[in-house]
Amino acid sequence: ASDRVFNFAAGPATLPENVLLKAQSELYNWRGSGMSVMEMSHRGKEFLSIIQKAESDLRSLLNIPSEYSVLFLQGGATTQFASIPLNLCKPDDAVDYVVTGSWSDKAFKEAAKYCKPKSIWSGKSDKYTNIPAFETLDQTPHAKYLHICANETIHGVEFKDYPKPAAENEVLIADMSSNFCSKPVDVSKFGLIYAGAQKNVGPSGVTIAIIRSDLIGNCQPVTPVMLDYKIHADNDSLYNTPPCYGIYMCGLVFEDLLAQGGLNEVEQKNLNKAGILYDAIDGSKGFYRCPVEKSVRSLMNVPFTLAKPELEAEFIKEAAKEKMVQLKGHRSVGGMRASIYNAMPLAGVEKLVAFMADFQARHD
Ligand code: PMP
Repeated sequence: ASDRVFNFAAGPATLPENVLLKAQSELYNWRGSGMSVMEMSHRGKEFLSIIQKAESDLRSLLNIPSEYSVLFLQGGATTQFASIPLNLCKPDDAVDYVVTGSWSDKAFKEAAKYCKPKSIWSGKSDKYTNIPAFETLDQTPHAKYLHICANETIHGVEFKDYPKPAAENEVLIADMSSNFCSKPVDVSKFGLIYAGAQKNVGPSGVTIAIIRSDLIGNCQPVTPVMLDYKIHADNDSLYNTPPCYGIYMCGLVFEDLLAQGGLNEVEQKNLNKAGILYDAIDGSKGFYRCPVEKSVRSLMNVPFTLAKPELEAEFIKEAAKEKMVQLKGHRSVGGMRASIYNAMPLAGVEKLVAFMADFQARHD
């Protein structure tokens, strides 16, 4: 609808318009139940049908093997930074973290409370603009897991392939918060994938964990019940009251992604959108610049700067006047950032690059 803006926020982020309209049409009285999803018992048959369909649609989208559990959790991806070592490690266990940006750094620091993490690589000295060559990684023998952040939301670096954990029985763990369901993923390469919903698949308040079932059930005794994967797995994510409405919204998004033809299709659209934006930046003769190494540039979060930084505030203000909002970079890095998740229409990216060319013509 014409009264909506193009919202380039990093998360909470834009959602598909047809999903919002469907939610609106079902808000007051969900499918003849006489109530909204917000008012339903989480143990009633209506909500059970919603959460079961959300799970089965997600399983179809990502081709999740049957030996993996899908958990709908709370506390954001940040809570997983603690849940992971608490569930997978004893306090003396070694684990490895690849630190490619602020989010993997936060995960690494939180883990130090519960086990013995090592940062085996950090991109900090290069301002987090690249991803290591996997063969150079100095992995710890006998590490329990290797943790990566598949897409660094703030710095815009994305793994295009994944490292293999070196130790026997070691598993790969990925924070996919900001590229979840943006492309196909071979789930079987991972012990655990987790993601906050509020970028690609729904509202904030839902965190999704996809975990190989044999990793469940060995948490440290101090683990709070709400962080114990076994409790949630044994109770089908209904141990306590789940974020019902958020799960319903995620379910509508999964339906929508399937209706688009699944994640191969979605990836093609994302490649196209990101290509248009990076080409505009790279073709601007240095007026705009993206600091990220080309081969690992994110399809989801596109950071860029202006050669004349004094124009940045003007750029953001003028863009907002043209209904393109939330283009300011993260406070820790400055510049601009356009988040172009699944739900950002091609028209939004086209409008942005047209604006960028026009802005350059007026200020170059
Ligand atoms: N990991 C990544 C990659 C993120 O982008 C974010 C949120 N921006 C988080 C973790 C933290 O997520 P939450 O706010 O859901 O705790």
